[in-house]
Amino acid sequence: MEEKEIREAALKAIGDSKDLKSLEEVRISYLGKKGSVAALMARIKDLDPAERGAYGAKINGLRNEVEGAYNQKKTELEKEALEQKLKEEAIDLSLPGYEFRQGYRHPYHLIIDEVTAIFADLGFEVKEGRDVETEDYNFTYLNVPKDHPAREMQDTFYLEQGGLLLRTQTSAEQAHAMQEKFDKGPIKMICPGKTYRRDDDDPTHSHQFGQIEGLLIGKDISMADLKGTLELFVKRMFGEKRSIRFRSSYFPFTEPSVEVDVSCAKCGGKGCQMCKGTGYIEILGAGEVHPAVLRHGGYDPDVYSGFAFGVGIERVAMLRYGIDDIRRFYQNDVRFLKSF
Ligand SMILES: [Zn+2]
Repeated sequence: MEEKEIREAALKAIGDSKDLKSLEEVRISYLGKKGSVAALMARIKDLDPAERGAYGAKINGLRNEVEGAYNQKKTELEKEALEQKLKEEAIDLSLPGYEFRQGYRHPYHLIIDEVTAIFADLGFEVKEGRDVETEDYNFTYLNVPKDHPAREMQDTFYLEQGGLLLRTQTSAEQAHAMQEKFDKGPIKMICPGKTYRRDDDDPTHSHQFGQIEGLLIGKDISMADLKGTLELFVKRMFGEKRSIRFRSSYFPFTEPSVEVDVSCAKCGGKGCQMCKGTGYIEILGAGEVHPAVLRHGGYDPDVYSGFAFGVGIERVAMLRYGIDDIRRFYQNDVRFLKSF
């Protein structure tokens, strides 16, 4: 092809390019190393030396012209491509957004926080305790020796490693607290946490529930101190108008032992359906620390005395919020959780 034809064909091909890809193909075929313009330039060696200067200048002029057209077209196509991209990626601000669902604290944890705050105000230390315990801490040190019927009543989940179990009561933390106290001085602690029982007979019971253990050890600690402390707790938790009463009971690790009832919120103690006509609702178990338990913890029962109590977290939450079934705490129903 001659120079003139190549010029026209190149300029037409550049003008007809619809996108950067086809323009690049045009560039390669005309301006590339093996392209038409380079082929024209290669002919220079066959010319008479006198003609070479003019011929070279002519072909260079052609190259410059085609390159100029190519550069201009390239700029145009790049601009178009950018505009197209911006158009495709545009954000539609009128589209509705995604809904972010707010999380809620579980009532179980709300109650732990409240109870902890009340006892922290009274100077009680908060201990975390252990979910996995030894038989000694869960039973023996709490005055429940092997073959004691209370072990049967609190049947739990034993681990394959011998002597280890999921604790049946936060009371397991009592002996830890006493043994860890290096100077064997006074102790004021609470221990909130999970406890486990193998309750497969009764569908209304949960295999897992929360307890808050309380332990106070000092000199001349009496039932009056226990009653005063629990009364203050109940009033802070359920309101100033609430009162408590003690009923005699039995636990292996306290002597004397009591069940503690709180006056009914609904009838104020007169008796109604909620309290089954008694005016009171059972809330926790408590008592004076048994001398055998003190001894297991390294405390001399002739010098020290104390009280302990264990309150069910779900029990408090049920009374506090009017929840009817303990199983609701573990069903993960967001409608239930949302209501707190
Ligand atoms: Zn009542």
